[in-house]
Amino acid sequence: MTKRITVQDSYAARQRISGKVRCTALVRSDTLSDQSGADVHLKLEHNQITGSFKLRGATNAVLSLTKEQRTKGVVGASTGNHGRGLAYAAKQAGVRCIICMSELVPQNKVDGIKAQGAEVRIIGRSQDDAQEEVDRLVAEGMVMLPPFDHPDIIAGQSTLGLEMLEQMPDMDTAVIQLSGGGLISGVAMVLKAANPDIRVIGVTMERGAAMYECLNAGKPIFVEEVPTLADSLGGGIGLDNQYTFNMVRDLVDDIVLVSEVEIAAAIRHAYWEERQIIEGSGSVGIAAVLAGKIKTPGRCVVLTSGQNIDMKLHHRIISGEDVDVTAEG
Ligand SMILES: *Cc1c(COP(=O)(O)O)cnc(C)c1O
Repeated sequence: MTKRITVQDSYAARQRISGKVRCTALVRSDTLSDQSGADVHLKLEHNQITGSFKLRGATNAVLSLTKEQRTKGVVGASTGNHGRGLAYAAKQAGVRCIICMSELVPQNKVDGIKAQGAEVRIIGRSQDDAQEEVDRLVAEGMVMLPPFDHPDIIAGQSTLGLEMLEQMPDMDTAVIQLSGGGLISGVAMVLKAANPDIRVIGVTMERGAAMYECLNAGKPIFVEEVPTLADSLGGGIGLDNQYTFNMVRDLVDDIVLVSEVEIAAAIRHAYWEERQIIEGSGSVGIAAVLAGKIKTPGRCVVLTSGQNIDMKLHHRIISGEDVDVTAEG
């Protein structure tokens, strides 16, 4: 039986992680509001410690371990930001941490995780390959903390929903990144509990939209991971998905897909108009608004979920270069 994750779990998570993660700002975007004819605000979560919201779930999960589990240490497979958050959270708690990841992960993310004090192991061409090494370490007694499909991770990410409600109680629409779905499951659970009329829109990239394909298939299926500017949204949802597939199916109103060109335009917009450095995955919400793909946004919160982009790549994009990562992979 899988546990049902509730708003109580969200408040418990917030109490646990209080003082260990930042409450990030919500700011109005005049340019996005003007362009969309709506009232668009950005929730600047890319300014979170470690550069993404993943620190919320990781901190909640590490602080929820039993004393015995803490002594064994934690292990995770990650496209980068989860590993970074987990490494930081474990270090803060004095817990050993090993992160396993695939060769597709950019070097800046590998370095970022090492800098947080975790051990890094690089295995295979996909997140699923890295998962096999995780399973081996779990057999040796370490505790696996996955990037999205875990109640403590989802509850940790859901604290973003609590903050969004406090910062804009009368929100009509929330635009949230979607990959494995831990983020949007938690946020949607909290927002819908407060007001079922709040529309929760998931945004992901056209290239390798795993959850989208799975929902169309009616069950978790294999979706190939391919290079994209939104590299933190890569990877499958797991064929044995326990939580996020059902939660996204039941709680998310719509899913919008954005192209590589639209993501690049959003990274540029974020930099030149909003003065924010946001990674591709963190920019897909802005991309959807700019492309006119969010219907009747009204009072709208657009999440910016991460900042961990290679700065040379970022420089090329904001300088107007026509970057095509899909040809480089
Ligand atoms: C992990 C991640 C996401 C997607 O979160 P899921 O819980 O896997 O859906 C979005 N943006 C960034 C920057 C991330 O690191």
